[in-house]
Formats: sequence, C-alpha cells, structure tokens
Amino acid sequence: MDTTTDIDELLGAATRRLSEISESPRLDAELILAMALDVERSYLFAHPEDSPDDAARARVDALLERRLAGEPMAYLAGQKEFWSLPLMVTPDTLVPRPETELLVQLALDYLPSGSDARVLDLGTGSGAIALAVATERPCCSVTATDISPAAIAVARQNARQLQLGNLEFVVSDWASALGAGEFDLAVSNPPYVCDDDPVLQALSHEPRSALAAGADGLRDMRRLADECRSLLKDGGTLMLEHGAEQEHAVAAVLREFGWLQVTCHTDHGGNPRVTVATRPR
Ligand code: SAM
Ligand code: GLN
Repeated sequence: MDTTTDIDELLGAATRRLSEISESPRLDAELILAMALDVERSYLFAHPEDSPDDAARARVDALLERRLAGEPMAYLAGQKEFWSLPLMVTPDTLVPRPETELLVQLALDYLPSGSDARVLDLGTGSGAIALAVATERPCCSVTATDISPAAIAVARQNARQLQLGNLEFVVSDWASALGAGEFDLAVSNPPYVCDDDPVLQALSHEPRSALAAGADGLRDMRRLADECRSLLKDGGTLMLEHGAEQEHAVAAVLREFGWLQVTCHTDHGGNPRVTVATRPR
C-alpha cells in the first residue's frame, strides 16, 4: 500500500469512483473518510495533507466498497436525519425520505399545539413519523406499529435516545393487534411500489417488505382503507403517503371503502403525495 497518499488524494480518488453510482459523490467521499478516520468533515478540509495509516485506509476501502455496491450512506453511517432528529437506521428499516416530511407537516397542521389527541403511525419503520409528531406535540399519545419486530426494536431505541415518553410501540399486521375506535388521527407511509417496478432493483439494500405492495402497488393501501375505519373515532382522519402517480388510484380505493372528504396534497416539487380522508360514520 502506498503510504504517501494524503487525505486530499484519497478524497479525489473516492469521488471519481463514487461518481459512477452516486448523485453526490464528493459528499459521500467526505462522509466515508470522516467515518473511517473518526473525525468531523471539517477536519478533512483543515488537514488535506495528512496521510492516514494503513488501518484507516483499509476502513476507507471497506466503506467505499459497500457504497459502490449500492448500500445507502445512511446504512454505512447507521443514522439518518429526519425532521432534524438524528435517527438510528439499520437494514431492517427503510431509510426515512425527505418527502415524508410532508406527511409530518400535515399531521402537525391537523393537531393544534397542546393537543392531547391519540395518534397512530402504521408501519413506523425507524419510527420517523411517530417520533417527529411525538416531539412536536408532547401532549399527544402516539402509537407506532410495524409488522417487523426488528424495525420496532430500532424505533423503540430511537424513542429512548430522544427521551420521548409519549409513545408506545406495537408489533402488528396493520390493524390486527390494535383496539377499535381508539385514535383521532392515523398516518401511514405504507409500501406502495409495484412488484415489477425496476426501482426496487436500485433500492435492493432496503427491506423489500417496506416497499413492494403487489402487482398494482395498492395491496397495503386497500388493507389500510379497510382496516383503519374501525381504528379511528367517529370523524377521525386518515393520512396516507403514496407515489406521485397514485393520486387517483388511492382516492378511488378510499372512496370504495366509504371514506369522505378525500383530498390530495402536493409536495414542494408539486407532486401529489399525501391523501387525507375522514372516517365514514
Ligand atoms: N414510516 C417509515 C418511514 O416513513 O420512513 C417506514 C415506511 S416503509 C415505506 C413501510 C413500513 O411498513 C415498513 O417499516 C414495513 O415493515 C411496514 N409494513 C409492511 N407491511 C406491513 C403490515 N402488513 N403491517 C404493518 N406494517 C407493515
Ligand atoms: N418513496 C419510496 C421510494 O420510491 C417508496 C416508499 C414506499 O413504498 N412507501 O423511494
């Protein structure tokens, strides 16, 4: 191994290799070096001429190979920021997406500050939505569910880390382990990708069970539209994230199950991404 390679050269070489697979190769390279050397990113800019030792360079190579194989940066770091909260993520949990902050914003708009509403996050994964709502609305009681016990363990750990007490976690196949008529608001970012969508190949490091939802991508939407009717109180509200192309299909599913005031909201990019509906009486 050439021990004369300094940080600047390592960054340049890593950036060139990462440009084949990443939209942010320089940033990924900086984060990988910072992780491998156990320093802040700013250290890299202050000490470009430092020569990491062989062990550190081996750690850089190992992380680089994982990233080049398509693993998300969040799994390399074991962490992802969502709603300004540092959340632990593992390959058992979807990496929370910035688009999902629209669902959080709509939930917060619905819940006045000081609200003591009972809120349900179905399919919580890392706990992202539930933790954001529980942080912003400390008087609400938030229940977070997932079919994956491993995901629930991560979400629970995140709640402990953030010292949030107004949350409970339940392993449940959608509504199956939950009581009737308990909640004022139910939110979900369910799986909604079609089984044959090529995007699943690009997302192959994330759990398929968090993403794929049958031939038409609506399998879990149908179950939620059906099962959430009994979970909500009279007049309660359901909010569902979905794909940008699914606005009309999701509205049709909700109407089929009797949901009222079905309204779709668009994200900052102008894409229809969250549909809100009121429980039929
Ligand atoms: N809420 C998280 C987020 O926004 O980052 C994770 C969303 S991920 C798209 C969907 C989640 O639903 C996964 O954590 C998956 O395990 C869970 N899930 C899939 N099928 C389920 C089912 N039948 N019942 C409950 N949860 C389910
Ligand atoms: N927004 C995700 C993606 O395509 C899909 C998440 C989901 O199925 N809920 O990257």
